[in-house]
Amino acid sequence: MAESKIIVVMGATGAQGGGLARAILADKSGAFKVRAVTRNPQSEKARALAALGAEVVAGDSDKPESLLPAFKGAYGAYCVTNYWEVFSVEREQAQAKAQADAAKAAGVRHVIWSSLEDTRKWVPLSDNRMPTLQGKYKCPHFDSKGEMDAYFREKGLPLTIFLTSFYWENFIYFGMGPKPGPDGTLAFALNMGDRPLSGIAAEDIGRCALGIFKKGSEFIGKTVAIAGEHVTGAEMAATLTKVLGRTVKYNAVSNDVYRGFGFPGADDLGNMFQYYHDFNDYFCGIRDVKASRALNPELQNFETWAARNAKLIPLG
Ligand code: NAP
Repeated sequence: MAESKIIVVMGATGAQGGGLARAILADKSGAFKVRAVTRNPQSEKARALAALGAEVVAGDSDKPESLLPAFKGAYGAYCVTNYWEVFSVEREQAQAKAQADAAKAAGVRHVIWSSLEDTRKWVPLSDNRMPTLQGKYKCPHFDSKGEMDAYFREKGLPLTIFLTSFYWENFIYFGMGPKPGPDGTLAFALNMGDRPLSGIAAEDIGRCALGIFKKGSEFIGKTVAIAGEHVTGAEMAATLTKVLGRTVKYNAVSNDVYRGFGFPGADDLGNMFQYYHDFNDYFCGIRDVKASRALNPELQNFETWAARNAKLIPLG
């Protein structure tokens, strides 16, 4: 049997990269092996990956030179940045560039860049339907990544641009889950009206990425957008009601109400949901569920995910 090829996984201790690392480690074909990059190889999550068989190496996207040894000798690289840790487009973009530069220097043969749309292509700064944030963005955590597509392309990397969708885990870890209202009824809020939201189980993102690496050249030079299902707020509420055994309501709030929620990034997310709503045909259209399932036959829909994760959703 041919020797397994190394895939460098950025964010391997996180949701996207973790899903990819576990997918590769569970893949019986043995086509690939995992080199998990983390700032802290001693962390519990890093040690858990090592116990599963991953090579765990130190690397920090804020220190570009630290990535070079991590990428050396690799066949593939999964590049991902975490805007929500830094809340800075400048820093996220410097991290993305460090990853692209390391992939180029190492001569990596297939790079997946986990990007998102630059929403300003749909909502230019002059469009006042939503406020401009940080002086030059509509949706900073999207625009930041979308702007980096050109950097990855201009490096001449063998590249797949990978567009993910809303993680349903946001109902567990991101404070977006149902909360009791004044009368005790559980409710969650989105400014999506009655339009569907493209969502996915976070673990399925990595499984789709493995599908892309396995197909190799078929996806180089392509953009691949994935989703597990497109579901409306009302549909998600009905499913949550079923799996939690308690009534859950969906509050379709206005864009301004969502932006005004006051948690860090509420304005960015309010603009994001407005973008999902206003350009719903595009957003759901490009995120092809059937094609995502072809990459990852285990792809979950919302009901499957909710039934498996009901106990983890905090209801306080
Ligand atoms: P996550 O679960 O929050 O974990 C963050 C990962 O990034 C960790 O593995 C961490 O590794 C790594 N990391 C952070 N800073 C690093 C640095 N300087 N150098 C090396 N590694 C670093 O992350 P995620 O959810 O997989 O990905 C985050 C991105 O997903 C965000 O940019 C967000 O915009 C995007 N996204 C989110 C959603 C959603 O619905 N939530 C949907 C689509 C896209 P160590 O701590 O081990 O070093």
